[in-house]
Amino acid sequence: MTKQTHAFQAEVKQILHLVTHSLYSNKEIFLRELVSNASDACDKLRFEALDNAALYEDAPNLEVRVFFDAEAKTLTIRDNGIGMSAEEASAHLGTIAKSGTREFMAKLEGEQKKDANLIGQFGVGFYSGFIVADRMTVETRRAGLPAEQGVRWSSEGTGEFELETISKASRGTDVILHLRDDEAEFLSTWKLKSIVSKYSDHISLPILMQKEEWDQEAGKQVKKDEWETVNKAAALWARAKSDITDAEYQAFYQQLSYDSQPPLAYTHNRVEGRSEYTQLLYVPAKAPFDLWNRDKRGGVKLYVKRVFIMDDAEALMPTYLRFVKGVIDSADLPLNVSRELLQESRDVKAIREGSTKRVLGMLEALADSESAEERAKYQAFWNEFGSVMKEGIGEDFQNQERLAKLFRFASTHADEGVSLADYVKRMKEGQEAIYVIAADSLGAAKASPQLEIFRKKGIEVLLLTDRVDEWMLSHLHEFEGHTLQSVAKGAFDLGKLQDEDEKKKAEETAEAFKPVLERLKETLKDRAKDVRTTSRLVDSPACVVVDEGDMSAHLARLLKQAGQEAPNAQPILEVNPEHALVKKLGEDPRFDDLAHILFDQALLADGGRLDNPADYVQRVTRLLSA
Ligand code: ADP
Repeated sequence: MTKQTHAFQAEVKQILHLVTHSLYSNKEIFLRELVSNASDACDKLRFEALDNAALYEDAPNLEVRVFFDAEAKTLTIRDNGIGMSAEEASAHLGTIAKSGTREFMAKLEGEQKKDANLIGQFGVGFYSGFIVADRMTVETRRAGLPAEQGVRWSSEGTGEFELETISKASRGTDVILHLRDDEAEFLSTWKLKSIVSKYSDHISLPILMQKEEWDQEAGKQVKKDEWETVNKAAALWARAKSDITDAEYQAFYQQLSYDSQPPLAYTHNRVEGRSEYTQLLYVPAKAPFDLWNRDKRGGVKLYVKRVFIMDDAEALMPTYLRFVKGVIDSADLPLNVSRELLQESRDVKAIREGSTKRVLGMLEALADSESAEERAKYQAFWNEFGSVMKEGIGEDFQNQERLAKLFRFASTHADEGVSLADYVKRMKEGQEAIYVIAADSLGAAKASPQLEIFRKKGIEVLLLTDRVDEWMLSHLHEFEGHTLQSVAKGAFDLGKLQDEDEKKKAEETAEAFKPVLERLKETLKDRAKDVRTTSRLVDSPACVVVDEGDMSAHLARLLKQAGQEAPNAQPILEVNPEHALVKKLGEDPRFDDLAHILFDQALLADGGRLDNPADYVQRVTRLLSA
């Protein structure tokens, strides 16, 4: 292949521009990114070589070398990993395959633009080289291909890159940065060493740099032929807990997650028994931008006896814990374990169960902590990840009870942080059910007419405003023997909470109201499933509820918004016979208009939409102009 010029994909051009301009204040991270790519390339080689040892050629020791030429102003990151073929170089260093590029760019342009962690998160680390270089040259040969099939990729990081075939004796990749004139500070062993130890100490491969010694005659440091390892080069999780500082745990987390904030909590254990493995698991403090993508790669990397196997091993964590980051290193799994095998393996099942319990344990420790500060941390966690945790209730039956205890809600007592256990403690004498109401927002929930009687009697109601809450309710039927009951569903029955006098009075009023009720039923027969009197209302004349077995109006709305079919269950109209408007209804000549308006307003108060708004407007106009 002679020299060929290719244009970058449009997105790459934009990324390049943004990366080089907005990350300048944090430019040293380019080395972290390139070393990390080199280390990944070595991991890939080790993995492929499990099936084909010949890939090691004559160099079985995987390593990364960092060196520079002060005169030529070049800095090279060399690895003897998997390397790239011409097609791979063109595809990987010229296009961006990943989704989320647009969000990435929006973030870089927005307030977070200084956040250098973003580029690692979005998988565009390679391009960070152009922050300090005005040309990057990559010389690479894929392991297993002959020396003549080496490739030179070269670009100034603007519109295009060049590819040509070269001969390259050693497999792997050299990334050569032609540093800009004002970036000479990176032509220093001391400087490079300090960056490596800051960001790359936890890379488990040796990162080698040339030793230097003082040359009296030349009056400067000169490089020797000897190379030394400048990082710790030991897998952090394999070291003894007592030897690892908090700062090291945090730095490792950064490297794994590219999160700019420290983790909320972590747990590190060696598990022995039926299945032997080490787990180092972190709970992040902030949700990632793609938390809602249930198909996204898991955050837990799988190693087998320190050998990296894969970094999206979904089988290791339940989906609802997809935000957990970390490493699991198994002593039992075969090195050539495949994804299919992972799904079926009993060892993996044991690891998954064990790891799930650890994560829940970590969260419980925060949630139930004596310290108010820790509990506040838990609330912050809940605000970020609560909606995802709720998925667990339908997914992880084994831990349903533990999960339910971790859940936090808003209620008529407090805007956040109410656990089911708190609720049960505050239940009134004679109260059996846990009352809940689901609505589109906290404001709408609080304003629900269905809450009126509960307010009056001081009975707490949980206010559920999360999209997944209705779904959660279909799996969480009870807590510690108390059923969860929606106050907007079914007939009103406070059971023992209502005294005999109240009940008797309500029955008498209902009896007297019967004739009007019949007229209402007749008038609204095409719109309401039923019309009945209720004592759940205090200030409002009417409200709508759905039958016990019917889908709530709120859930039906959510489904429709999501483009799904939802059954059109007719609501039941409940009227408050104590309300002045309702009391006069029977004698009013405008009965028909009033009945429809009563019904429409109850629908509106419930957050619903009118099928025929024009009809409503006409009726109200008629009333107003009478
Ligand atoms: P990411 O590493 O997150 O995928 P990068 O932009 O850093 O994103 O790299 C893009 C791709 O280029 C990598 O996924 C990999 O396939 C390839 N690549 C980069 N550096 C190397 C290297 N040193 N050896 C082999 N492949 C590499």
